[in-house]
Amino acid sequence: KGQDTTIPSSVKNVEAKVDSVLALMTLEEKVGQLVQYNGSWDLTGPALEMNNKQKEENLKNGKVGAMLNVLSVEATRKAQKLVMENSRLKIPLMFGYDVIHGYSTIFPVPLAETSSWDLEAMEKTAQIAALESAANGINWTFSPMIDVSRDARWGRIMEGSGEDPYLTSKVAVAKVQGYQSNDLANPHTIAATAKHFAGYGFGEAGRDYNTVHIGENELHNTILPPFKAAAKAGVATFMNSFNDIDGTPATAHITLQRDILKRDWNWNGFVVSDWGSIPEMIAHGLARDKKHAAQLALNAGSDMDMEGGAYEIGLLSLVEEGKVSEEYINDAVKRVLRVKFKLGLFDDPYLYANPELLDQISFEEHKAVARDVAKKSIVLLKNENGLLPIQDSVKKIAVIGPLANDKDTPIGNWRAQGETNSAVSLLEGLQNNVSKDVGISYAKGADLGMGERSFLMPLEINKTDTSGFQEAITKASEADLVIMALGEDAFQTGEGRSQVDIGLAGVQKELLKEIQKVNKNIVLVLINGRPLEITYASENIPAIVEAWQLGSESGNAIADVLLGDYNPSGKLPVSFPRAVGQEPLYYNQKNTGRPFNPTHVTYSGYADEKKDALYPFGFGLSYTSFEYGNLSISEEELTPGNPIEVSFSLKNTGEREGKEIAQLYIRDLVASTTRPVKELKGFKMVKLAPGESKTVTFQMNEAMLQFYSVNKKWEAEAGEFEIMVGGNSRDLQKVKFSLKK
Ligand code: BGC
Repeated sequence: KGQDTTIPSSVKNVEAKVDSVLALMTLEEKVGQLVQYNGSWDLTGPALEMNNKQKEENLKNGKVGAMLNVLSVEATRKAQKLVMENSRLKIPLMFGYDVIHGYSTIFPVPLAETSSWDLEAMEKTAQIAALESAANGINWTFSPMIDVSRDARWGRIMEGSGEDPYLTSKVAVAKVQGYQSNDLANPHTIAATAKHFAGYGFGEAGRDYNTVHIGENELHNTILPPFKAAAKAGVATFMNSFNDIDGTPATAHITLQRDILKRDWNWNGFVVSDWGSIPEMIAHGLARDKKHAAQLALNAGSDMDMEGGAYEIGLLSLVEEGKVSEEYINDAVKRVLRVKFKLGLFDDPYLYANPELLDQISFEEHKAVARDVAKKSIVLLKNENGLLPIQDSVKKIAVIGPLANDKDTPIGNWRAQGETNSAVSLLEGLQNNVSKDVGISYAKGADLGMGERSFLMPLEINKTDTSGFQEAITKASEADLVIMALGEDAFQTGEGRSQVDIGLAGVQKELLKEIQKVNKNIVLVLINGRPLEITYASENIPAIVEAWQLGSESGNAIADVLLGDYNPSGKLPVSFPRAVGQEPLYYNQKNTGRPFNPTHVTYSGYADEKKDALYPFGFGLSYTSFEYGNLSISEEELTPGNPIEVSFSLKNTGEREGKEIAQLYIRDLVASTTRPVKELKGFKMVKLAPGESKTVTFQMNEAMLQFYSVNKKWEAEAGEFEIMVGGNSRDLQKVKFSLKK
């Protein structure tokens, strides 16, 4: 009362500004900054049973710090206005949204985009997503998801960058840079979120939200590196996760949030809970009620409560009762204010809800980028009988399959609400791009799903209706070449979409077999979000193209590859299994005491299936071929401060220009803890003309050999190592060197 609540504009420095605001705040106002509300009013969260009037009152009274899912410039301005014109301190709201792979222009789903291994392209698409969403009022995205995930049964594997911590770390940094451009106050950038902290990708048996059993070694060596990289790159926020890790839900994890993230990594942004993950601790059996959940979460360093309704009912009295310290509250509030200052919201709360920004956007340019990154994300898995690229002699193409003319599935799950939310289908892409003398026929053959499709309900798969088969068979029998588009519906992957069957769902395999009987020239184009079990196709179909869910320009990008306008260069960021029973499956596994023995059954594998992947991590073909040779190292001994050089020759031995993603792996042969048999440590994209050969060089230094050791710190241990290079994680050449300390 009687206090001057004007925030002094003369204060330049963010920390001083944050302190100056904090000094003005009542405890109630502080708690308000830690509360996030959902904006689509009719979609109440698990905990929030509040009507719209009440929510508006709370906004007016400074009891809310951020919102999510407020989906128009008008709605954003309206909510911001409630705060700016009524609350005592006028602390602007932040507006978050899941801008996962584009906003209006939709890019490939993250797992697909990672297949490009093109970090510049991935940074660019994040920049565009930021620009388009900022123009629509959003200033905070819940992306990137950097959960290392190794189980194809988990539906959210499509949202991440696959099974490798090194590649995921690189993508994490590219995405953070793309969204934030090291310049958050620029209205063309938005705050990014590193999620889900931590372990969410390791849910037992691929079940979503499930218990995670990982020890310290795996946590530090596999799960945390991408998060550490994102923190170092200055990501504005972190989101914690729903799962429990070894007995403690991530939301109540003091070691993870307070010790590792905030203390050891010295990171000063804020942690938002996942949707309702604070009250979910009641179901976990950790919290007695919402108030207790709020106590556990805040004390563990969860700064903001997303739609959980726990902080707003609990924190005030918890502080009064001495169960949560005001010091912890202050720290959390400062973290939130810091991000708001950096976003420029105190200077202009309507910075992001500015319709003029929309006029500056060239959607045509963005489309071109979408097509470019989409074609780079395609992985050629098999190409026999000279089927691809499609030859000039092919005059009649039959395009067949439930996904062949699907304009929605390529948009993928976690689609944003942009207005151009419909993809170029594969059929349309071919029609747009083939020469005039080629005839294209089309038959769907079968439906993949039945009934309604939605984000909220699992899709009911068509397992019986084959009434469309005959038309497809007839068209296939009349064609020179059949292009079959099979895979998954957009809503078969994503949150809550764990599956026990990851084969070609429903009647798709049957359709494929029927078509095969009348035409052997089949190019199978897979449109899907997770690795699929495609062993039958791999053994029986001459050409297979992994086209994932590629976003707005999907069909054009696939046509670019099929017609040979682009020579495929993508590589898998995740292993494809021979059988679902192999999951979780990943290349960077550890050895056992019983590695493979071809003459004996008692080794660590399966009696009824091979142990390795059908298509391994890093795998992808080109229309040309590459040869690796002359692997050498500049010295056999590496010492701290004296890196060695690894070099090898890479030759294009085919007849087309092509791009190869050359990969570098290491193995630490003897260490104080067991180490993976292979670990990616570098990759380079090399463009080669037919017949051309280049020397590819990598530097190998001590830091690249570090791991979280038995001493509980990151260090490299002296001893012998192997260096391996090649075009995928299976077919590698090796050389030994040692680290001397
Ligand atoms: C998901 C998060 C997402 C949030 C907000 C949760 O269910 O796990 O990844 O950001 O919802 O939509």
